[in-house]
Amino acid sequence: MRKIAILGSTGSIGTQTLDVVREHGDIEVVALSCGSNIRLVEEQVREFKPKLVSVWDEKDAISLRTALSDVDVKVCSGMDGLIEVSVFEEAEILVTAIVGMLGIRPTIEAIKAHKDIALANKETLVTAGHIIMPLAKEYGVKILPVDSEHSAIFQSLQGNENNKISKILLTASGGPFRGKKLDELKNIQVEDALKHPNWTMGRKITIDSSTLVNKGLEVIEAKWLFDVDLDQICVVVHPQSVIHSAVEYEDGAVIAQLGTPDMRLPIQYALYYPDRKTLSGERLNLFELSSMTFEKPDTQTFAGLKLAMEAGRKGGNLTTAFNAANEKAVAMFLDRKIAYLQITEIIEAAMGNCSFIENPDVEEILKTEQEVYEFINSRW
Ligand code: NDP
Repeated sequence: MRKIAILGSTGSIGTQTLDVVREHGDIEVVALSCGSNIRLVEEQVREFKPKLVSVWDEKDAISLRTALSDVDVKVCSGMDGLIEVSVFEEAEILVTAIVGMLGIRPTIEAIKAHKDIALANKETLVTAGHIIMPLAKEYGVKILPVDSEHSAIFQSLQGNENNKISKILLTASGGPFRGKKLDELKNIQVEDALKHPNWTMGRKITIDSSTLVNKGLEVIEAKWLFDVDLDQICVVVHPQSVIHSAVEYEDGAVIAQLGTPDMRLPIQYALYYPDRKTLSGERLNLFELSSMTFEKPDTQTFAGLKLAMEAGRKGGNLTTAFNAANEKAVAMFLDRKIAYLQITEIIEAAMGNCSFIENPDVEEILKTEQEVYEFINSRW
């Protein structure tokens, strides 16, 4: 029986991971964590019977301990709690379904504790890929991509470990505002940006998808996961979201993974890798689909992607400035404190204000994050 721990079990990826567990019945969930949704995590504890659960706030931990007083489970909190879940002895795989840079330290500690990582938490790789990837190699642990595009690339690489990648074709739906120009985006409201055409996801990534910042994060994530130069990654807007991404080899062959948009497939592939298991759900019907279309991304309108490429190319702590500014700006937009187009404006300003460090350690990454937050707080 595979044993897993999950960071962010109450979120979109976390709950779909538990759907996969439910479907097969041969995975044991030994530890869980969430932010503040203690109602849902209590249900999850009762259903999956993990031995450890962590919530962010100690006050919530106290309430959860009371609610679960009839259950044999340890409840902890804060960053220490997240780390305790990440290194929990019985777990073999840690699913990092937490959102944001908060995942850096738990992911590092999990690798040091020899856990394979099923990685959804892209912000960690974007900001600390230069630490995570060599560390995973040193400890002999696998980083198994959960992001659908990266899973598609990973699947397209199977059997080709010794063949050089010529290019990665990273597909993008284009988000809800594809085809719109800047003046049409001025008055975008939170509700408009939260409507993704093809995927149902957490709030932050849904906003990131609408600005194409998500695609920028994914470009940097792909650079680290597959050890390619940024210039080998070509973003292709493919509104039907059927080709989840592809790899072009040196002989010109392009190998892709296709399917209906369903995150359970990449989650399941990461959990059972290299095996494929039955998965219920809709199948791709090419006759019904009838056509697929492709476009270049509009980086004039969606400058977030251009800024991500710039950050990814320069590297160092600039990717942290990019990511932290986006995390903060998206939270401000969701709180209706800034306008939609100010998200990229803030990212650009924070990148311009960043004192460059070529090879930042974790402390320097977290310090850069803090400086970005202070800079934004002082200006907006
Ligand atoms: P959600 O917002 O749906 O879920 C985030 C999870 O993180 C929740 O369980 C939340 O707990 C938890 N969390 C938030 N803050 C804290 C905290 N301070 N301490 C502990 N846990 C916390 O996000 P998604 O599932 O959409 O995304 C998760 C990650 O996966 C992101 O990095 C995203 O980019 C990536 N991803 C997501 C995809 C998707 O389809 N959703 C696709 C590919 C990648 P609570 O519910 O209690 O707040």
